[in-house]
Amino acid sequence: MLLKTIGIRRSQKIMSHFKHHNHFKTKKAIHAYRFPFVCFACRKSFKLPESEATRFCPQCRKPMEMLSRKFAAPPARNKVQWKKVEFLVRNGFRFYSVFETIETGVMEGVNYPSTFQDALVFVEKYKSQVWPPESE
Ligand SMILES: [Zn+2]
Repeated sequence: MLLKTIGIRRSQKIMSHFKHHNHFKTKKAIHAYRFPFVCFACRKSFKLPESEATRFCPQCRKPMEMLSRKFAAPPARNKVQWKKVEFLVRNGFRFYSVFETIETGVMEGVNYPSTFQDALVFVEKYKSQVWPPESE
C-alpha cells in the first residue's frame, strides 16, 4: 500500500519539528503491524494486519474501515462516541495526525475531538489535512 507508506514517512518528517514527543508512537507501536479495523454496525474494533482488499466484520460481515494505530475504540455501548468516530471517518479523518501551525515553521499535533459537537468544528477546521486523500 504505497500511499499509506508515503503517509507514514510524511508524518515522521513533520514530527521531527516537534517539541513534545511523549505522545508519539512508542517503539513497540512502530514494530506492531496490526491496525484497528472498525465496524460501525457492531461498534467494534479489530486489530488486523494492513490490507489493500476490504476487510469484513467477523461478526456481521459488513465492510470495515482501517484506521490509524492511534485510534482507541470506545466501548460498544457508547453509541454517542461511535457516532462521532463514524462522522470523523466518513469525512476522511482516520485518526492520523492533524497539525496546527503555532508559529512560523512550528507545528503542533492537535488532539482529536472528544465530543460530536467538537467533531463538527474539527472537520470544518482541518479538512485540508485529510490523509490519506479521499481521492484514492
Ligand atoms: Zn460488524
